[in-house]
Parts: sequence; C-alpha cells; structure tokens
Amino acid sequence: DGAVLIVGAGQAGTMTAEALRSSGFAGPITLLGDEPHGPYHRPPLSKAWLAGEVGDAQLMLRAPEMLARKTITLRTGVRVAAIDREARQLQLVDGERLPYAGLVLATGATPRRLPLAGGDASNVLPLRSKDDASAIAALLARCAGQDLPLVVIGGGFIGLEVAATARKKGLAVTVLEAAPRLLGRVLSPELSAWYAALHRSHGVQLVLDARIERLDTADGLACAVVMADGTRHACGGVVLGVGVSANDGLAAAAGLACDRGIVVDACGRTADPRIVAAGDCTARRLDDGSLLRLESVQNATEQAKSAAAALLGQDRPFTATPWFWSDQYDRKLQMAGLSAGADAWAVRGDMAGGGSFSVYHYRAGRLIAVDSVNAAKDHLQARKLLDAGVTPTPAQAADTAFDLGSLLA
Ligand code: FAD
Repeated sequence: DGAVLIVGAGQAGTMTAEALRSSGFAGPITLLGDEPHGPYHRPPLSKAWLAGEVGDAQLMLRAPEMLARKTITLRTGVRVAAIDREARQLQLVDGERLPYAGLVLATGATPRRLPLAGGDASNVLPLRSKDDASAIAALLARCAGQDLPLVVIGGGFIGLEVAATARKKGLAVTVLEAAPRLLGRVLSPELSAWYAALHRSHGVQLVLDARIERLDTADGLACAVVMADGTRHACGGVVLGVGVSANDGLAAAAGLACDRGIVVDACGRTADPRIVAAGDCTARRLDDGSLLRLESVQNATEQAKSAAAALLGQDRPFTATPWFWSDQYDRKLQMAGLSAGADAWAVRGDMAGGGSFSVYHYRAGRLIAVDSVNAAKDHLQARKLLDAGVTPTPAQAADTAFDLGSLLA
C-alpha cells in the first residue's frame, strides 16, 4: 500500500488513478500534471469547443472535488524532471523529491513543429493542450476580423477538424498535405478521396503533394506559406497538424526501453516491475514482436485499466478492438479495428450521395476494420464482429438488406 505517483494528469493518468481506487487500492495516489488545468477532454479542442458549441465546463474530465472524494491528490503546474529508479523517487523541476512504491508514466505526446524558416513565428500554432486551443481560437477570431485566410499544415484528423471548424466560422481555409492523399496512414484510398471531396465541397482549398519551402513573416508573424513551386498562400496564421512525438524522455533517461514511445506489454508493464505506462506515451509490444502506437481516448482508457491492474499484481491485457472517431462538418467518422494492410474493401450504404455508409476492410479474406460515416449502428455492430472474430463476406457487408447482426447470434 505504498504511494503511487502518476506523471501526467491527462486521460490515461486520471483513468489509472480511478482504476486503482475502484480495484480497492487504499494507499496514497498523487496525480502530477504540468499544465495549469485539472484533467480535461482533448477531443473537443479541435471540434465543438473550438467551434464555440460547448464551453469550458463540458471539457472537464474530472472535477478536482471528485478526485478529492476518491482521495486522489491532484497537483497541477508541477513538472517531473527525472526518475531515480534506485532510490524509487521522482524529482520535480524545483528539486522536490517524492518517493514512490509504484509509478505510472502517462505523459502523453508533444506536437511536432516545422523545421522551416518562419516555422517558429508566434501565429504558427500546434494543437495539443487547452492553452494551445485558446491561442488558436484567438487566431481564428483575428483572421475572421481582418478577413485573412487560415492555412492548415497537415491533412490528418486534427488539421482537418480545425479546417472544418474554421470553415464553419466563415474563414477562407487552405489545407496543405505533403502526402498524395488525406489521412493516408489510417484511411483507405476511397475514403481519403471522399474526405478530400467533402472538404472541397465546403470551400476548403486543398493542396495534396504539398512541398512547403518556407513561411514568410512580417513583424514576427507568418503572412504567407511559400511552396517549392513558388506559389504563395497568404495567411493570417497557420495551424500545424503534423503529428506528435511520444513523451518518452523521462523513461529513456531512466534506462527504460523506448522506441518512439515507452515500450510496454499488453498489460502496460515496463521492464521495471514498479513502473507502468499508459496512453499516447507508450508503444505496445504485440505478440509478433512489432510495436503498436495508438493515440486515442480508448487506448489511453484501456491501457490505464491494464496498468492499474499490473501495479496491483494482476494480469489484465488490453486486447479489445481499437476504435476512434472524428467529427468534421456534419459527418461523424467512427473507426473500428486497424485498416492498415487491407487488400479488399466492401462499401455498405450511400457513399456517393450525402447519406451514411461504412467501408469494410479485409486482409487475406478476414475482416480487419470498419470505418463508418454517420452510421453509428454499423460501428457498434462492427466492434462486436471484430471482437468476436466474425467475418461477413464482402457481398453480405455490401448488402444493406442483409442483417450483419445475424452472424453474431
Ligand atoms: P494526455 O491527455 O496528453 O496527457 C498527458 C499529460 O501529461 C499532459 O497534460 C502533459 O502536459 C503531462 N506531462 C507530460 N510530461 C510531464 C512531466 N514531465 N511532468 C508532469 N506532467 C507531464 N482521440 C480520440 O480517440 N478521438 C478524438 O476525436 C480525438 N481528438 C483529439 C483532438 C485533439 C485536438 C487532440 C490533441 C487529441 C485528440 N485525441 C482524440 C487524442 C486523445 O486526446 C489522446 O489520445 C489522449 O488525450 C491521450 O491521453 P494521455 O493521457 O496519454 O495523454
């Protein structure tokens, strides 16, 4: 029942603290977070919160009083500088040392910057934290007020969600994506093309295969993004959505294995029996030896439960089907499974029109993932099919008259 310290008061850290308590752990638990805020939901930062549709209250993940009721101590504004594994202590940046019996690393990830001239101008903004989102909200307001376009660099989920939100606010928006298609790492080519068409139909100027040379600045502010072919995209500011790096520096400095993330097993364990890790900071070793990095609320939540169990000496591997969502305009994408490596697809529903549909991804004849757009029922059913290892034939998947649920009976 010695003290458990949790580094990072985000999704994974908070969920680990709660899982420890709900599993009957009675010792002291302290959540250490370097942000000034208590735990909050990140997904709305590029969606409903940025659009002004929900306020700060709805961002809150757990109120400090709720944590206090569970005797979970929350310390905000404290940054952990080092782990002393031999002494079993954490060192904070101000020199304070805190002893632990169990340690949870839930440090999340840091958005990448652009190593380009002008890339560090003060109106070139990444999006990870609530403070980042506040700065972007102010940037959108300034662009709208001065009738200046917004440039989004990166056609991944965060970039595209910000683009959709900015269009909703009436801004002119250009999205620059270096790859030949949007969301290329996670979507099938057809769905990438569908998203490109969706954004163009909402007036986004979309540039694929974008080669950016530099950002021009005036008075310290980026005023144009200049392409290798000389094209200039004038702008009032830039939002960066070019991916993240796992925050594994503390773990690496303490001698724990890291490979673009803190290497953990399916139960969130590191090689040190007193240290577990969960969430975006991890890279999970799979049975075939490969490493899986996921950045999602589900992954953080499930790994948190596994990590809490591991600290209590129990095995609770996280093996459930991964799922994710993204809101852009009036379309909700819900993804179940991982579609990388798919070699065949079937479409159920109305992909060409404005309705709802799902894309079923197959590899070597097996269903591996389902991406649903405005089709919540398909999504929930897909998770059940994937969890159960049940594969409908592509013909069954494509036939809306066929009840896929009957395969689960
Ligand atoms: P975080 O929530 O990032 O928490 C880590 C915390 O640790 C941070 O507060 C960090 O500041 C702190 N920290 C780091 N180092 C230290 C240190 N040394 N000392 C003290 N504290 C430290 N996922 C979905 O599933 N669906 C979505 O639609 C979705 N949308 C998203 C939209 C945005 C804009 C963003 C940014 C993310 C989105 N995600 C979404 C991803 C999801 O939010 C993350 O996967 C999730 O927050 C990961 O939780 P975490 O606890 O691992 O990391």
